[in-house]
Amino acid sequence: PLVLGIETSCDETGVGIVRGHTLLADAIASSVDEHARFGGVVPEVASRAHLEAMVPTMQRALDTAGVTLADVDAIAVTAGPGLAGALLVGVAAAKAYAVAADKPLYGVNHLAAHVAVDTLEHGPLPEPAVALLVSGGHSSLLLVDDLASGVTPLGNTIDDAAGEAFDKVARLLGLPFPGGPPIDRAAREGDPASISFPRGLTGPRDLERHRFDFSFSGLKTAVARWVEARQRAGEPVPVNDVAASFQEAVCDVLAAKAVDACRTSGVETLVIGGGVAANSRLRVVAEQRAAKYGITVRVPRPKLCTDNGAMVAALGSHLVAAGAQPSSLDLPADSAMPLTVVTG
Ligand code: ATP
Ligand code: MG
Ligand code: FE
Repeated sequence: PLVLGIETSCDETGVGIVRGHTLLADAIASSVDEHARFGGVVPEVASRAHLEAMVPTMQRALDTAGVTLADVDAIAVTAGPGLAGALLVGVAAAKAYAVAADKPLYGVNHLAAHVAVDTLEHGPLPEPAVALLVSGGHSSLLLVDDLASGVTPLGNTIDDAAGEAFDKVARLLGLPFPGGPPIDRAAREGDPASISFPRGLTGPRDLERHRFDFSFSGLKTAVARWVEARQRAGEPVPVNDVAASFQEAVCDVLAAKAVDACRTSGVETLVIGGGVAANSRLRVVAEQRAAKYGITVRVPRPKLCTDNGAMVAALGSHLVAAGAQPSSLDLPADSAMPLTVVTG
C-alpha cells in the first residue's frame, strides 16, 4: 500500500510516504533551534511551529514522492504519546486530509512506530523479535510477537530515559541541546575506560527484581559529582573522556540487557529504535555482544532513529497490510498512550 504518515509528537513536524517497505519521501521541519536556548522543548513553541510547518512539509513530501493525496491508500498519524498540543496539530491535520481525500485514517503509537521504521531499511521484521526502544522520553525492552497487534513490555526505565540522560549530561558538560549528538561526537575523541561510572540495576540483587529494567539517574548523578569534584579542585574537566565514559556506561547496560532479553526469550532478532539508537557506539557494542550468541541486530540509519514521518508511514503500511481496522474520525490525541496499544 501507498501510505502517508504524519508525526508531530514533539518538536519535529514530519511527513513520510512509503510504498510497502519502500521509503519514497521523508520531509521534516524541526523547531529544535527555537528550543535550544531553553535547554528543552517548550510545548507552546512546538505547537505553533507544527501549525506553521504542517502544510509546507506535506507539500514537500508529496513532491519528493511524486504522488498526490488522491494516490495514497491510507493516512497514518501519531496519536500518542507525546506533547498534547503538538499531537493535536498532527491529528487535526490528518483528519482534515483524510476527509478531504476520502482516505482511511490510522492513529498510531509513536513508540511502536520507532520500532516499525526499521522495516524500511531491512524489510519485514522476523517475529518474535526483541525491541530495545531508547528515546528522549522512553527506555524499554519489548517482546514483539506481532507488531500489528501489540508488544509485550519486558522492562522499562525506573527513572530517566536514556535520551534524557544524554541531554542532562550534555548540559553538565556545557554541550548543546539535544545532548545525544554532541556527546556522541565528543566521545570519539575520549577514552571510554578513563572513568568508571556506575551501571544501573546490574548488581545481583537488582537483577532479581529488575532484570530487564533500566536506571540512569544514578549515572547522571555520578557524572555530576565527578565533574563538580574536578571543578572544586580547580582542574579542567576532560569533556571528551567524561562523554566517552558516560556513553560507555549507557551502551554497556543497554546492550547487555537487550542481549539477555533475547536469550531469555529464545529470540534471534534484536531491533533497536528511538533517538538513542542513532548513537554510533551503541550500534557497535550491541553488535559485538549479540554476535557471540548468534543474535542479529537491526538498527535503522541515524536519520530514521530520531522522530520523523516515515516511521509513522511504516507502521501505517504494516497495519494496512495486516488488515487492521482504521481509526474513527473521532480519534483523540492521547498524550499518555500506553506502549501496548498500537492504534488509537
Ligand atoms: P519519545 O520517542 O520517547 O517520545 P522523543 O520523540 O522526544 O521521545 P526521539 O526523537 O526519539 O525522542 O529521540 C530524541 C533523543 O535522542 C534525545 O534525547 C537525543 O539526545 C537522543 N539522541 C539523538 N541522537 C543521539 C545520539 N547520536 N546518541 C545518543 N542519543 C541521541
Ligand atoms: Mg526531536
Ligand atoms: Fe520519538
